This record gives sequence, structure tokens and C-alpha cells, in this order.
Amino acid sequence: MAMLYGSSRGKSPQLGFADVLVTGLAPDGGLYLPTALPKLPANLTATKLSYVDLATEIILPFVTPAVAPAQLKTLLSDAYGTFAHHQVCPLVQLDERLHLMELFHGPTLAFKDIAMQVVGRLFDYELKRRKERATIVGATSGDTGSAAMQAVRGSEQVDIVVLFPNGRTSEVQRRQMTTLNDSNVHAVAIEGTFDDCQDLVKAMFGDESFRARHNLAAVNSINWARVMVQIVYYVWAAAQLGRGSQPITFCVPTGNFGNIFAGHVAARMGLNVQRFLVASNSNDILSRLLETGELSAKEVVSTLSPSMDIQISSNLERLLYELLDGNGPATAEMISEFRANGRARLTVEQHQRLVAEFAGDRITDTETLAVIKAIYAAHAMLVDPHTAVGIGVANRLAQKGEQVVSLATAHPAKFAEAVTQATGVNPDSPPQLAGIFDRRETFGVLPNDLATVKDFVDGIR
Ligand SMILES: *Cc1c(COP(=O)(O)O)cnc(C)c1O
Repeated sequence: MAMLYGSSRGKSPQLGFADVLVTGLAPDGGLYLPTALPKLPANLTATKLSYVDLATEIILPFVTPAVAPAQLKTLLSDAYGTFAHHQVCPLVQLDERLHLMELFHGPTLAFKDIAMQVVGRLFDYELKRRKERATIVGATSGDTGSAAMQAVRGSEQVDIVVLFPNGRTSEVQRRQMTTLNDSNVHAVAIEGTFDDCQDLVKAMFGDESFRARHNLAAVNSINWARVMVQIVYYVWAAAQLGRGSQPITFCVPTGNFGNIFAGHVAARMGLNVQRFLVASNSNDILSRLLETGELSAKEVVSTLSPSMDIQISSNLERLLYELLDGNGPATAEMISEFRANGRARLTVEQHQRLVAEFAGDRITDTETLAVIKAIYAAHAMLVDPHTAVGIGVANRLAQKGEQVVSLATAHPAKFAEAVTQATGVNPDSPPQLAGIFDRRETFGVLPNDLATVKDFVDGIR
């Protein structure tokens, strides 16, 4: 049976997987969601499948009939063959109640690779089948861009343009985007914040003729395919811990809400989850939403965990749509109210349903450094600032007897400055970074101006 996907704003036609993959954002501005979720096969967490086999089982119902089972398995093997750890997402125990799941063993050292290496290949596969080319346009707060560029570099089917906030990424993050020499890959620094970059991308997608002219495609976390691929490691964690029957709490360093939303989908598919902890840095809109039931925007502040320096978490719309009982027009109204006034409020009942599943807190930069230092002192282990935000929240919120898996979303070498500041130790550079400081950087710098950015994209081909 083919799975159908509908928009969170309810005004776009339902599509199958292949169309959802290449469309990204729905034409009504909404985000695609499956109209019904498959159940996880019984005993999936009791059997010790390899990561690729587990991923094949979980992803197959979402992509049928666009991708055949054997094709999917080959594609997943190739994707995870680029990872430096044979388990893909290994778990490391910190103490009796806390495990870290390391999601950073891919080519760009952040968890984005896990989905992007698959989505890039799915794109290539589908565009070849259609005999089409596409231009991927994306915004990045640091990690998505390089992961997407790595995933499609050298592809004959796509050009990729990635907008990043000038001066707000780490040096390694920037170099991972600006030192690739492939002619189909374009990095652009925007004089603005990540939210500005995201708004520019949304505006390009909102221009029908521009969108059609370039066959625009999106691979930022609004793309359903990324959420889908991320479901797998939540199930993987349960399988590794042999905890099919006992619930796990997941603590997730959160920015755009894509990672944690995938966990929520895994839970809805039947994974035994106690609750989710939303870990934020000082950009704490989600913590405040959980505390008050109100979404209220504030200025973005720069922190040591830049991939979470976001005030408008785009994937939150998917959860709001569920909290509003799948009412697309009501979701659209809430989002436009938030856009217009910087505020929107859940009803008491919606807020209660939210906090029944999610708790959250924020960790300041000072606290982040203290966590990195403490983990190094206790375990001789270096963790990156995003991971540290997760650990800090897990330590603060975990209750007695609760088993927590906190997601380690980036490799410490990717954020070496902060790690060194906290511990005095410079993390070893993994092979993925070999030569990165020697290669020449090429990138454009553009103002936060839609017309200028469109001209740039027009000029690529
Ligand atoms: C993207 C990213 C996050 C935030 O993930 P979301 O899916 O946007 O919530 C956290 N940590 C790192 C290292 C990231 O790259």
C-alpha cells in the first residue's frame, strides 16, 4: 500500500513519497506528514539487527512503492558505509541512568549526516528516474549545510545553494561548506541570522515562477524524508539497550525540532518511550512554551551551541498540527498569528497534552562549559557544547529510576574552541577533518535581501 502524505495546513493535495521528497515544503506553506503511521513490527527492539537492516525495516513502509526493498537496502548500506563507526550510532554508558547515543560519526561530524546521506541518495535516485535536474536551496545554522553538500557533491542531478549566517558558525562548520571544490556546490554567507536565512529560503519557495524555473527542492529539516530517516536511531537505542518492554526517556539538544519530532513519531509507531526532554541553550522558546503554553519570540542570541541558535523551530508546526487534532486551517491560523504578533497560545487542554509527553529546560553557556568540564573530569571524555546542553538538561530533569538516552549530536572536534575553553584539552582531529584548514575557501557574502539572493541563484546555471 502506498503511503499518502498531507500538509499541516490542509490546503495542498495529498502526495506519495517521491513527490513529498522532491517538493519539501507543501505549496500551502505547510509541512508534509503521513496521513497514517505504520506500526513498528513486533519484537523489532528484541532482535539485534544491524543498523542498515533495522533502517530498511523501519523506512520501507514510508517509501513504498517509490523505492523497492532491495534498492532501499543498497542505498542505506552505501549511506552508512560513509560512517567511521561500524555501529553507525553507538551507545556509550555514562552512569547507571544515563547513556549517550553518538550520532556524529558521519562525514561532517554532526547528526545531520544520518539523514542527509540517505536523503541525498534518495534525491539522486528519484531525479534520475524522472530524468530531471533540481536546485536544492537550504538554510543552515551550521551543520545542515555541510551535511547536505557532502551528500550531493558531484551529483549530476542537482545544484545546491546553502545560505548560512555570516560569522555565526564555527570555523570548522564554515570550512566544511566553503572548501568543497565541486562545481555543483555553492555556499553563501548572509549578513543576518539563521532565521533570516530560513526566511529567504521560504520566500524563494513561495515564488511560484522562481520555484518552477529552478525546480527548487529543499533538504532542510522541513523535508519529511529527513524526519523519517531519524526515526530509526530511537528504535536502535531501545534495541541496543534491550529495553523493548521498559520505557526510555530521550533527551534531545533541540533547535528546529526535527530530531526530537522523529523520536515522537517513533513513539507514535509503538516505541516504548517514557517522555522526551527538550534541551535548549539560551534560545529557549521551547522551554517557555512548555512552561507557559505560549509561543513567544525573542531575539536570537549567539551561544556556544550555534546549531541550536534558533527562535522559530520550523518542525514545531508538525507537532502543533497534531495538538490541534489535525486541523490544517487552525494550524495555519496559529502560525500566521505567531508570525504577525510574535505570540500564539495553546489552549489549556493542548498544553496539558504537550507536557504529558515533553519536558524541557535551558542551559546557559557558562553551564555548558561546566558540563563539558565535569564530563571530562568524571569520564575522561570530551563532549561538544550541543551534547553538553543535552547532558545538562538530562542531569537536571531525570528522576529516580528513569533511564535516559541523551543524544550526542556533534563530535567535539567540530566545536574545538569551546571544548578547549572548558577543559584545556584540544580534541583530536578525526580523519573526516583531514586537510580542512589547508584548503582554500570559496563563498559569496550577500546582504539579507531576497532579490539579491535570487539573482545569485539565477546566475548559477
Ligand atoms: C541541527 C543540530 C541540532 C538541532 O537539531 P534539530 O533537529 O534542529 O532540533 C542539535 N545539535 C547539533 C550539533 C545540530 O547540528
